Amino acid sequence: MNKKPFVTKEQIEEIAKTYPTPFHLYDEKGIRENAKRVKEAFSWNPGFREYFAIKATPNPFLVDILREYGCGCDCSSETELMLCDAIGAKGEEIMFSSNDTPEEEYALAAKLGAIINLDDITHIDFVEQILGKLPETMSCRYNPGGVFTLSNGIMDNPGDSKYGMMTEQIFEAYRILKSKGVKRFGIHAFLASNTVTNEYYPQLAKQLFELAVKLEKETGADIAFINLSGGVGIPYRPDQEPNDILAIGEGVRKVYEEVLVPAGMGDIAIYTEMGRFMMGPYGALVTKAVHEKHIYKEYIGVDACAANLMRPAMYGAYHHITVLGKENAPCDHIYDVAGSLCENNDKFAIDRNLPKIDMGDYLFIHDAGAHGFSMGYNYNGRLRSAEILLQEDGTAKLIRRAETPKDYFATFDCFDFYKNLKFEK
Ligand SMILES: *Cc1c(COP(=O)(O)O)cnc(C)c1O
Repeated sequence: MNKKPFVTKEQIEEIAKTYPTPFHLYDEKGIRENAKRVKEAFSWNPGFREYFAIKATPNPFLVDILREYGCGCDCSSETELMLCDAIGAKGEEIMFSSNDTPEEEYALAAKLGAIINLDDITHIDFVEQILGKLPETMSCRYNPGGVFTLSNGIMDNPGDSKYGMMTEQIFEAYRILKSKGVKRFGIHAFLASNTVTNEYYPQLAKQLFELAVKLEKETGADIAFINLSGGVGIPYRPDQEPNDILAIGEGVRKVYEEVLVPAGMGDIAIYTEMGRFMMGPYGALVTKAVHEKHIYKEYIGVDACAANLMRPAMYGAYHHITVLGKENAPCDHIYDVAGSLCENNDKFAIDRNLPKIDMGDYLFIHDAGAHGFSMGYNYNGRLRSAEILLQEDGTAKLIRRAETPKDYFATFDCFDFYKNLKFEK
């Protein structure tokens, strides 16, 4: 499949007059169409809610768009909770799925009325001590251990992951929670990441539905929701088949009818916590070619670096690149596309077939809308870029300004040398 940018060279030239590259650009139209499909895919389940994983793209303007489609917020830290509070998310619109959680974060989650999803059985006492009394609704994160395999060979290794409770522990946790007055229960699990197959959610759902039936029978707990969490993937590579969320929703419906309905549990709400699937394809890192270097290999140096998009450096992740204005040119050059960090893994592409790149060309790095900007960092004193929303009417709206040196040095402002810094902006 040909991966097409959601913006043209001419549009970028226009935007760059006001906001210099690099920047993260988001496609409002794409975000809305996808959010609508997700809602439709699970419309058979009256209690359904997608809790957008804030960590993927913690921008209030983008989260607000999703909230128009009924989405809640999935938080895992104090600042994520603060963000959701600030945009008016309340109570059960917030899921708090954290791990290794500090006291004060549980306290804030409880204060906002968020649903607390416990990562571990020892957190029952921990939360009770902080809050005095447990909330009436609580969720537990499950880890079945072993290996989770899908038929296309995708697998993940829950047995090696730090998250969740073992099978015996979740039964014990439910009994304890019930004895401490908890009335409504949830189950949560995240067993495989970036699954590009329609099978993942249905297979996970089956496992969790069967667990729910046993849990309810053995502990008498009233299970109100099952949270399939994140992990629904996107096709980073052009040869990958995208997931069909309607087929995924239908797959979950089928196992719901097979397992939960006959057990008299047909009133359970389905929750999801997708991040990547909601935002990934609808964001891009836009960067300009500023240097070319001919040594043992051919290099194109761009004005973005791994501090703006860490996935290639961190995971060796593939991100497709389109040279804007050269969409139909032959890809007859082989380049490494590099950033400026003093780290040799700062490469957006290695040995990539691309059209001939000229200095000043704009590169559109696809699928940076989730776990892109948010994983940014300041190594080498590099600053975080702006985030811009390409609105449905084709105009650009700044939704986060770029960092300035003042932001970078802000945590020194209580020290003497700070006053010697010469800020031009
Ligand atoms: C990261 C995360 C998500 C989102 O994962 P995606 O792969 O982006 O869908 C959801 N829930 C929890 C608890 C997470 O840690």
